[in-house]
Amino acid sequence: MHELSLAENVIRIVENAARQARARRISRVRLGVGALAHVEPDTLQFCCELAARQTLLAEAVFEVERMPGRAHCNGCNQDVALKRIGLPCPQCGSFDLRVTAGEEMQVLEVVVA
Ligand SMILES: [Zn+2]
Repeated sequence: MHELSLAENVIRIVENAARQARARRISRVRLGVGALAHVEPDTLQFCCELAARQTLLAEAVFEVERMPGRAHCNGCNQDVALKRIGLPCPQCGSFDLRVTAGEEMQVLEVVVA
């Protein structure tokens, strides 16, 4: 499952950072997922809880937020909001779009217990 490998990466990154900061336990992790990334927030949250077992994040609460997608439209030469891949430009209806944001995943916040 795609989300599980993402979750394992998140856990590894946060745990490494926590170790370096000599944190014993992580209580909360807030993740942002771009609206255009092929990631289901609920699934990612569930997978994080699974992957966190027996790590410093075992008791952490995971929150996953959707971040808006953006694209540059070559049809009307504007930067527009994009809800998902495959939709036309909301301004002019062109499909000639170049995605500029919304495909990424970010760790937004880590709270150390
Ligand atoms: Zn357009």
